[in-house]
Amino acid sequence: MITVDMALQIVIEKADVIERTDSVGLDSANERILAEDIFSDIDIPPFNKSSMDGYAVISEDLISLPAGLEVIEEIPAGYFPTKKVAKGTASKIMTGAPVSEGADAVVMVENTEDCGNGKVKILYKVKKGDNISIRGEDVKKGEKILSRGVKLRCQEISMLATTGYHKVKVLSRPKVSILATGTELVEPDRFPSFGQIRNSNSYSLFAQCQSAGANPEYLGISVDEETNLRGKIKKGLDSDMLLISGGVSMGDYDFVPSILKEADVDIAFEKVAIKPGKPVLFGTKGKTLIFGMPGNPVSTMIIFELFVKPALKKMSGDTANYSFKGKAILDKDFKRKRAERQEYIPAAINRSGGEIRAVPVDFHGSADMMALTKANGLLLIPIAVDKIDAGEMCDVIWFSAADPSYMPA
Ligand code: AMP
Ligand code: MG
Repeated sequence: MITVDMALQIVIEKADVIERTDSVGLDSANERILAEDIFSDIDIPPFNKSSMDGYAVISEDLISLPAGLEVIEEIPAGYFPTKKVAKGTASKIMTGAPVSEGADAVVMVENTEDCGNGKVKILYKVKKGDNISIRGEDVKKGEKILSRGVKLRCQEISMLATTGYHKVKVLSRPKVSILATGTELVEPDRFPSFGQIRNSNSYSLFAQCQSAGANPEYLGISVDEETNLRGKIKKGLDSDMLLISGGVSMGDYDFVPSILKEADVDIAFEKVAIKPGKPVLFGTKGKTLIFGMPGNPVSTMIIFELFVKPALKKMSGDTANYSFKGKAILDKDFKRKRAERQEYIPAAINRSGGEIRAVPVDFHGSADMMALTKANGLLLIPIAVDKIDAGEMCDVIWFSAADPSYMPA
């Protein structure tokens, strides 16, 4: 059986950046990955601009203070100067307006006194260049300002707006088909009769796909019957990724592996030394990645976090790190009889006074999703480790870097 690390390496090798692009408006560009290099069509600022409300002056006129100057015009933002500032004169100017020819500094209005008769008294000195933003000092026309691959945040979106990109090319989100299998399954709007259970995996997978920047699409539930399953799998193979939950174990009605093989899916592995989630299948057909995940909800969720999420991030062109690993002090003795699999145990991780502690939550096994609602991460027990005493350091994984207790390793 291959290890978690080997399996992850195989998955990542097979995942390729989606080459399709979307053209999106700036109102829906947040967190998308840029698919083109961006060049400025203007100098920024586009003209020598006053950064204060005040007076455009010649700095040498202010050698002796207070200096009385004649006000020759007023320039609000959106207008432009019509007069040149000469010795002994000033133009009243507003923030954002172009600075008059001849002037080499702006005195802020707080440091002046309006004499009322077309004159102004300047009370403090300014140096040449003060309060003027020089044309092109931030960006030159033609300069490359953003590169393909950047994940757009508010600051990049602001620059796109400034440089006239009202629409921008971004990488398409990976399209992920979600298929639940199991004759016992009913949708959440139904009350299960005896022997039935509600389908929860499809919806936890939807949420995980959305958080990973993917575009999930629902294929519904397939009963454990070959014709039905074959049809739904065939449809899912048109997507960038197909996620199948259930039907991959050793039961008589676990048809997923054989149908995938029959559909020419190239299977890379069918088992990983992991608990929960050992019978996890991964394969490819062309550029499509296929995961067959064991149906127990906790297994499905953990397999997604460990293998599917990193693959989706790579396919999305997102280069940020999404593995939130760290160390914590174990709060309770851990013991197990067999240590041949890497085990993940739901935990409440908390930080107090700089100390990070992991408290395993009460957990009844891979169907117990209720336990996960009390957890913000997982303990990671490596292969060959059969006990960890309370007080010892252990490996943990947080579900989110936004968790207040998160501390990278
Ligand atoms: P399987 O992997 O198909 O053998 O399923 C393992 C267990 O997970 C069984 O108890 C199933 O009823 C349960 N299960 C399978 N699919 C789902 C699902 N979509 N939602 C909730 N539980 C499921
Ligand atoms: Mg099943």
